[in-house]
Amino acid sequence: MWGSEPYWGLSYDWDPDWMLTERHKELRATLIDLCQQEMRDNAKRSDDELKFPRRNLELLGEHGFLALTVPEEYGGLGENHAAYSMVCETIARYGCASTAMCYVMHMGAVNAIMLRSTPALIDKYIRPLNSGKIGTLSYSDPETGSHFWYPISSGAERMKGDGEGGGGFRVRKKASWTTSAGFADFYVIQTTSPDFKGYDDLSVFVVDAEDAHAQPALWDALGLRGNQSGGLDVQGQIPGDQIVGPVGDGAESNDESVDPWFLLGSSSVWNGIAMGAIDIAKRHTTRKRHVDVGLRVCDYPTIQDYVGEAVIDSNAARVFALSVAEAFDRATDSNTRVLQPGTTARAEFLHWGWQLKFAAAKNVAHVVDKMLHACGGSGYKRDMELERYLRDAKAGWVMGPTNEVLRQFVGKSALLGFEVLDYWNQHVNERAIANETKKLDAKGKRALAEKLLAQAAEDEAKEPVAR
Ligand SMILES: Cc1cc2nc3c(=O)[nH]c(=O)nc-3n(C[C@H](O)[C@H](O)[C@H](O)COP(=O)(O)OP(=O)(O)OC[C@H]3O[C@@H](n4cnc5c(N)ncnc54)[C@H](O)[C@@H]3O)c2cc1C
Repeated sequence: MWGSEPYWGLSYDWDPDWMLTERHKELRATLIDLCQQEMRDNAKRSDDELKFPRRNLELLGEHGFLALTVPEEYGGLGENHAAYSMVCETIARYGCASTAMCYVMHMGAVNAIMLRSTPALIDKYIRPLNSGKIGTLSYSDPETGSHFWYPISSGAERMKGDGEGGGGFRVRKKASWTTSAGFADFYVIQTTSPDFKGYDDLSVFVVDAEDAHAQPALWDALGLRGNQSGGLDVQGQIPGDQIVGPVGDGAESNDESVDPWFLLGSSSVWNGIAMGAIDIAKRHTTRKRHVDVGLRVCDYPTIQDYVGEAVIDSNAARVFALSVAEAFDRATDSNTRVLQPGTTARAEFLHWGWQLKFAAAKNVAHVVDKMLHACGGSGYKRDMELERYLRDAKAGWVMGPTNEVLRQFVGKSALLGFEVLDYWNQHVNERAIANETKKLDAKGKRALAEKLLAQAAEDEAKEPVAR
């Protein structure tokens, strides 16, 4: 139902409901009501005015969704990965894609904290979630673009002494993109570790809004206009209990929590946008009539083909998302396992998350184009909402990890093994060196050798003297 009317889009017959529990379906019904009553109208406002969807996030908080995957003992709904996928998809499909993306980043921050939860972190950040507290992830770096696991413009130092600040950290970070920047109450960030020993020595911190500086007025983009993913500058002294996990836990936190939750949640958002665009196309093509031939637009086999292919491909991506969710659920006893550093569960399925995000983002970009074609010029106009879905969908491919990066990860590791991925640019490609130096004549080789010897001497001079 859509309010008091039957829903004008696709019915539940086209949802893979055998993969959801009765509780999931109840939660979905609540969300659809919220979308119908308020969230979808707010989506238009966010898009028109570049407005952060605070009211929509508050509504989610009032119904417990901001703590969806938090155990009940800490005030959450105690739900699992399948529920999370369903919630992200439902908000994007029936309500507001910007809200859905803010929600993904919020839950990413919440789950990064929960991976290494402490009583102090739970009291400060987790228990107040239902009062509307919003978190976000800030990982991207202006110097490394979509290689967001490589935070060059960042650092952390331990603060010595027992007095004020003693035992805490001085943290700095510049981020090029941060969803909800300037609006979130807390930011989970990754920096190089204190006593940095070289990449992959990264640490995770949670910083409060007063230490995170953003300029939301600068945000303007093609789609997801309410998600306010602007730059962020963190400069602050933070207490020692606001490090999330041990020093150096960053790479493991990424593989076990941040990436799995983000890849699943964002893919579910792309699937939701795809289904939402199909819903709009159904509404329009079943209502519009060509009087000359006495047919509705939906009566043309061409239009049926467009919709048939879009439903088949989108449902393949949705079943894929719920299947990856099931893998995470099985590995974590339905999101109840407490993992100590050094023990991983979701991380074993990370390459399935990469494949999922590629498939969902590729699909939605295609589906929104085809639904526009199916609706004709009417779909191009703003009042039908399809053009907003189209613009929102286009964020999928370019959002990190970008689809170019993902297909390379998958192809490279499928062909050569996971060890060659070399996230932090540490492994020397001897084949490339041999191939390039082969092209040099004797003089060129000598010049290169002299340059390298000079660099080696410089590096040695910087090394600590052995005692
Ligand atoms: C709407 C939106 C919201 C976002 N929100 C957040 C957020 O909340 N937090 C956050 O941390 N980040 C966020 N991001 C940033 C995102 O994660 C990426 O970092 C960003 O989209 C990359 O853009 P760029 O211009 O830096 O791309 P670049 O890295 O400059 O890439 C340019 C092109 O080069 C390609 N490319 C890059 N590296 C390779 C490679 N190794 N192999 C092949 N091709 C490559 C890319 O795929 C792309 O085609 C958001 C992005 C968007 C669009």
